[in-house]
Amino acid sequence: MSDFVFPPPPPASAPVRGRAERFPINRIFCVGRNYEAHAKEMGVAADREAPFYFMKSPAHCTPSGSTIPFPPGTSNYQHEVEFVIAIGKAGFRIPAAQALDHVFGYAVGLDMTRRDLQAVAKEKQRPWDIAKDFEHSAVLAEIVPAAEIGHPDRGRIELRIDGQPRQAGDLSDLIHSPSAIVANLSQYYHLQPGDLIYTGTPEGVGAIKAGNRLEGSVEGVGTIALQVGQPE
Ligand code: MN
Repeated sequence: MSDFVFPPPPPASAPVRGRAERFPINRIFCVGRNYEAHAKEMGVAADREAPFYFMKSPAHCTPSGSTIPFPPGTSNYQHEVEFVIAIGKAGFRIPAAQALDHVFGYAVGLDMTRRDLQAVAKEKQRPWDIAKDFEHSAVLAEIVPAAEIGHPDRGRIELRIDGQPRQAGDLSDLIHSPSAIVANLSQYYHLQPGDLIYTGTPEGVGAIKAGNRLEGSVEGVGTIALQVGQPE
C-alpha cells in the first residue's frame, strides 16, 4: 500500500559535472539588484548594506537545453543570466570567513521574469511571485563542483539571444559576494544541502519572443541554453 494518495512528483535535481549522481534541489533563493548597472537600468538604487531575496519553487526548475513554451499572461518576458551558488553543507549564522566551506559548487542559471507582472506588483505593493516564480522560470545548467574549479570571484558573465550579445558583466561587479550572501542568508534560514542561490543579474535585461534562442555563460563555470517555443 502506498504512503501517498497519488504518486509524489520526483525530486527536482540537476546533473553534476564529472559525477553520475545528481544534485538534489531543496530551495531556490534569488538575490535582487546585485549589480550596480542592472539596479540603475531598473530605475532603483542598489542596497549596498544587505542583499534582499525572493524565492522560486524547485518544481519550476528547468534544465539547460530545454525548449519551453512562451509563458502565459505576459507580453514582456525577460531573461536574467545569473551565477548560481549550490550549497552542500548545512549551516546557520555562518561567519563570512567560513561561508565558502558550505558551498558544494556553482552553476549558470537563468532567472526568467514576467517583467510586466513584476511592474504591476511593485506598483500595487503586492508580492512578486507571479512575476518570478512560474513554470520553467528557474533554468539551471549542470552544477560544477568547487573541488574542480575553486570559488570564482571574477570572470565574464554574459547572455546572447540568437547569437547577439544582450547581457554582459563580470563576477567582480557583484555588490554582495557569494561569501557575503551565504553569511547574510544564513542569518534568516538554516541553510541545507541542496539549497541554490541565484546571485543576481548584470545589465542588459530585455524582452524576448517566441522562437528566440538564449545562450549564456560564466567564465570558468560553464554555459547554459534555452529555446523559447510558441505559447501553448
Ligand atoms: Mn534575477
